Amino acid sequence: MQDLLSQAKTWMEKGIEIGEQEIVEYVGGENAGIDQHQADDASAVYEQSMALTLRNTLAGTLADVNEALGALERGAYGQCRKCGQWIDRARLRAVPFANLCIDCASRERSDFELPRY
Ligand SMILES: [Zn+2]
Repeated sequence: MQDLLSQAKTWMEKGIEIGEQEIVEYVGGENAGIDQHQADDASAVYEQSMALTLRNTLAGTLADVNEALGALERGAYGQCRKCGQWIDRARLRAVPFANLCIDCASRERSDFELPRY
């Protein structure tokens, strides 16, 4: 299980790097300084905010992975940090760094679904 988390952590760190590169490309890339229609500008802004959202999501996930690694060391891995219940094994297989049981997670993150790995 520890190997799986370490892998997830490496993957998240890589994801953040790629996300940051994309943001740099949007901000300082070929689109900068070119006179565009208002609609094109709007979509460029939209894409940029999507890249930022992705980066924030990845950073949040990385924090979850670190937290899960810490919990593993304390012997508390797999426990919901909100209600203290043991998280369902099927859920941990799908999201190894989950720190909330499915009930608490659906209450806290109803606006966003984490990708399943
Ligand atoms: Zn819970």
